[in-house]
Amino acid sequence: MPIQHEIPSYLTPHGTGPWGVYLEQIDRVTPHLGKLARWVETLKRPKRILIVDVPIERDNGTIAHFEGYRVQHNTSRGPGKGGVRFHQDVTLSEVMALSAWMTVKNAAVNVPYGGAKGGIRVDPKTLSQGELQRMTRRYTSEINIIIGPHKDIPAPDVNTNEQIMAWMMDTYSMNQGSTASGVVTGKPISLGGSLGRQEATGRGVFVVGCEAAAKRGMDIKGARVAVQGFGNVGGIAARLFAEAGARIVAVQDHQTTIVNENGLDVAAVQTHVSAHGSVAGFSGAEELKDRAQFWGVDCDILVPAALEQQITEANAHQIRATIILEGANGPTTPAADDILHDNGVLVVPDVIANAGGVTVSYFEWVQDFSSFFWTEDEINLRLTRIMREAFAAVWQLAEDKKVSLRTAAFIVGCTRVLQAREMRGLYP
Ligand code: GLU
Repeated sequence: MPIQHEIPSYLTPHGTGPWGVYLEQIDRVTPHLGKLARWVETLKRPKRILIVDVPIERDNGTIAHFEGYRVQHNTSRGPGKGGVRFHQDVTLSEVMALSAWMTVKNAAVNVPYGGAKGGIRVDPKTLSQGELQRMTRRYTSEINIIIGPHKDIPAPDVNTNEQIMAWMMDTYSMNQGSTASGVVTGKPISLGGSLGRQEATGRGVFVVGCEAAAKRGMDIKGARVAVQGFGNVGGIAARLFAEAGARIVAVQDHQTTIVNENGLDVAAVQTHVSAHGSVAGFSGAEELKDRAQFWGVDCDILVPAALEQQITEANAHQIRATIILEGANGPTTPAADDILHDNGVLVVPDVIANAGGVTVSYFEWVQDFSSFFWTEDEINLRLTRIMREAFAAVWQLAEDKKVSLRTAAFIVGCTRVLQAREMRGLYP
């Protein structure tokens, strides 16, 4: 009898998708983990994967089925934590990678969580509000067995928002028989949400952007910024950079790319997007015909704030920015990382750059337990402090070890996770 392969099929082959990118990043950090490298296999296998069928009755009386996931990558340092994504391209391996990046991110900024992520393969634009609510509630009910304020705490991600979080909190609470506000973060303020949470990811991108610019001797005032994605991360980061005197010279969204060398009027772009769902047709800018031209736009700071694997070996050579701030999770492939490094481009990795969201999620969770709520100033002050300290620590380590900021951030994060793993010991 041939010996059965003991690695589950979804873990192999690694392929070129987000999970393959994550595994390559782990391989790159492993030589820097010393004796803890003994435990590194832990990081290559999610702790727990749940695949659920999500059936709903459509408004026209037919039944539709969607595939949903919740992956708890690691819980060595605390409960699972990470968002829920609704997108037509969601796959299990994507959610696995996103959950793993949450593990590294939460450890890199030292919030007391493991890493998790969830998602449903659906284009939410094709659903009515009623259908969206039924799908969200059924999904929550299906993953109810593994989530909870002390087990795993979902939050918003691509195409999910505070309304979805309110439905998730209500569904979980109905199943429990009592209101459990700490089961999700990113809730509406009236339901135990935190001031500053909605802006937190974009604000964090801005804060580390200022730190990185200072290291490169770049003045934010007058700096040219290009942003991919104009949602909750890219839109807010663009606004904060513009308020600080930067010029937003290009914005790309799912439909089109707009450019204006003199700087876009960000508030006007926001108004246009609220009305039309895209930057397409915005009058105060030119539209680029070819999407790929976005990467060659002359700018100082580039903020990919959309989806994974946008900066690849196919376009990394074109990039003219001196700083890249990863607002998205996993936007740069390892091959692109190497090209950017050779070209002297400073990449502030996702696990630091976009950690502001989960940091304020942590504040929200703490406030829910104590039922005592902080002011927005307090939130922003604490957020800024954590982001600056995390950036400084990673910067120092990168200098000392002569590695990239990504490898340095992974050294900090993975070391914390594997130290906890080792201290806890293997059960039984
Ligand atoms: N979805 C966000 C992220 O990718 C936030 C997760 C959270 O707040 O739990 O970091």
